[in-house]
Amino acid sequence: MGSPSRDHLTNIRGRFHDVRGCTSRKGIGPRVVVRIVLAVMIGTLTGGAPQSRAGDTIYVKVLVDEEEVFRDEVWKQRLRNRLERASEILGQYSKVRFSVIEFDRWDSDDATQDFLASMREFESEVSLGRARLAIGFSSQYQLKMGRDQLGGTRGALHSHILLREGNPRVFEPDRLELLVHELGHYLGAAHSVDPDSVMRPVVADGRARRKAYRIRFDRENGAILRLVGAEVAQRGVRRFSDISLRTRDKLRLQYARIAMAFPDDPSAKKFLQLLDGPVTPVDHPTEVTTAGTLIPALPPATLPPPATTLPNRSSAPAAPPRIPARR
Ligand SMILES: [Zn+2]
Repeated sequence: MGSPSRDHLTNIRGRFHDVRGCTSRKGIGPRVVVRIVLAVMIGTLTGGAPQSRAGDTIYVKVLVDEEEVFRDEVWKQRLRNRLERASEILGQYSKVRFSVIEFDRWDSDDATQDFLASMREFESEVSLGRARLAIGFSSQYQLKMGRDQLGGTRGALHSHILLREGNPRVFEPDRLELLVHELGHYLGAAHSVDPDSVMRPVVADGRARRKAYRIRFDRENGAILRLVGAEVAQRGVRRFSDISLRTRDKLRLQYARIAMAFPDDPSAKKFLQLLDGPVTPVDHPTEVTTAGTLIPALPPATLPPPATTLPNRSSAPAAPPRIPARR
């Protein structure tokens, strides 16, 4: 997968380089003006030339399925705003920014009621185009009462994230927090036992709607975002398994801390495996889950991939203890 932004920049720069060559010798003539206008038009049509340094920005393709009820301009603005806010929050920990480069729709299977099947379908139907990451917002089916999966991805730097959208019980602050949570997974964050961390395994629990609430990462995941973000932004790393040995050692330390404080959740251990593993195979989803699920009804063999869940007020386990203070 090439860098769409870089290709695009090369294209535009190439054109302006031609123009500069002409002007230095002859001044700007009609043909040059036409070329400038063409270059600007191409820049506008393709979303404009990104200003960020190569690698700083993860270009995102944002999609909704056919169940999205709002007009195109409404949902595009809503999701662009949400991604911008999520990117600002993640930018406090990491050098990486997320920016929408393309909007689209995909046709989700109306018969599907299973989140894992929806993820597989989303991954197989949606190509990345010029983006590095595709985020789908599905209004395909309503959430059941109680705990349910709200979103998922297969692991750090994986190409697709699927989120549920359009449920009246989940409000915009919850959706923002959910998006930050999944983008946190994208940058390597694991589930945290810290109940104030956006990486707690159960979100959309109402906290995000409190006035004083601020979305934040716990100390260990903050360190992970910094480390993985630096690999992406400075070394151009595209796969989790390509992270440098030095950073890998530092990540192992953070995952070990998380796993020790939260032994019931498998996500830190899964990320550790992914650090040393091959590229995530899209057609073997159950082997590459990266985040634990808290849906107790499912036997281990059928656990879906990464799951961010809604709390079930009747059967939710007691809040996990806080992470002991560390120096
Ligand atoms: Zn999660």
